[in-house]
Amino acid sequence: MAKPADTKTATSRKPAKGTRSAAETEKIRAALAGRRDELQAEYDQTLSEITELQRERLTDSAGDDQADTGTKTFEREQEISLANGILDRISQVERALERLDAGNYGWCERCGNPIPVERLAAFPSATLCVTCKQLEERR
Ligand SMILES: [Zn+2]
Repeated sequence: MAKPADTKTATSRKPAKGTRSAAETEKIRAALAGRRDELQAEYDQTLSEITELQRERLTDSAGDDQADTGTKTFEREQEISLANGILDRISQVERALERLDAGNYGWCERCGNPIPVERLAAFPSATLCVTCKQLEERR
């Protein structure tokens, strides 16, 4: 192979890695935005449930013994950690959207292949493609 020709094609060739079509980027953005809305709704729902349950607890806590109080505290902690878990996922999605804008989101960290849109929608924090993820888990 002629060397000068090789370098010429290498510089003019469109890089296979690091580019996605605008349509695909939009698809990912829409998927992530949809996910964020879903999570936001879930979070709002959880918060209103916490508020509701808290109100119930306050109104019927008159006859509570210590065990009841302990159970209720535990339940409340569970709900709060659930709500916090949703918040974490929301911020993951928001970080993903920022990285998408910066152009460095959605690429497998191991093989550099684009991660399918469907996978990104289901796991916004995914940094590996399915194949690499499976390899990782098998180790
Ligand atoms: Zn990969």
